[in-house]
Amino acid sequence: MIDKKPVYLGIDKDKEKKYLEWVSKTLQNCCACPRKCGVNRLENEIGHCKIGRYARVSSAFPHFGEESCLVGWHGSGTIFFSGCNLNCVFCQNYEISQYPSGPECSAEIIAEMMLNLQSLGCHNINLVSPSHVIPQIIESLIIAKQGGLQLPIVYNTNSYDSIDSLKILGNWIDIYMPDIKYWEEETACKYSNAKNYPNIVKESIKEMHRQVGDLVISSDGIAQRGLLVRHLVMPGLIHETKEILKWLAKEISKNTYINIMEQYRPTYKVLYNPCYSKISRRPMRGEIEEAIHYAKLYGLSRIAD
Ligand code: SF4
Repeated sequence: MIDKKPVYLGIDKDKEKKYLEWVSKTLQNCCACPRKCGVNRLENEIGHCKIGRYARVSSAFPHFGEESCLVGWHGSGTIFFSGCNLNCVFCQNYEISQYPSGPECSAEIIAEMMLNLQSLGCHNINLVSPSHVIPQIIESLIIAKQGGLQLPIVYNTNSYDSIDSLKILGNWIDIYMPDIKYWEEETACKYSNAKNYPNIVKESIKEMHRQVGDLVISSDGIAQRGLLVRHLVMPGLIHETKEILKWLAKEISKNTYINIMEQYRPTYKVLYNPCYSKISRRPMRGEIEEAIHYAKLYGLSRIAD
């Protein structure tokens, strides 16, 4: 049940044309994400994310493993994009994120996926790993909207996003779901090859919150609009967790809805490269409890179960 109409239903034809102009301009000299590779993706040139003109979709299905306010009864209509602008050495989806696979999909095909997920009764369209395919997402949403899409869009991101691209997304996205993993630049460079990560991620989350505010959940328990932050607790990095939670409470909002995630497990490069031995274990129960303790201590009370 939708209590409130998604924000993109207010976009008119003239504005759609402006968005398509932005899509061409951004892909021609790619600056869709903070890497700013400058490659011409209209000509199928490949940058850091390894994705050219067309987005690759790894899978699209009603997902029942997301937060309960997204899943509801019929699932979250998830579209997993291949490729990524980060290179996390512990990525659990590295076969998809680091070695892009799945078919190249036109905007028409992605729009059809969205409409299909809607017809299956999903409560939202959940775009996973979207930061490097924002232009392709905008193209698809324009077509899906014309085809009758009415579901709120969830932007499920690693937060290594361009502020300019986020501003473009402002009229399309109802629910931002950013992840924030590290507080220290050195840690982000070592484990995710993400230069300037702390500044980029903090500015991105501020922009997301400026656009949509705190998470609003309907009377029947379904997320409608707002910010839902994920924090993956990393082994041995609880001091960074503490700073992140303090910052969220102070600089974003004490009313931030946060999912403190405990599913980190060593995989991918962490399994064989001794450089990453400090994170080659699961977080201990005590570390998860400490993270929840700090969240409460700083006044964050909306913690996902
Ligand atoms: S989206 Fe890809 S090609 Fe474009 S700037 Fe980012 S990493 Fe580079």
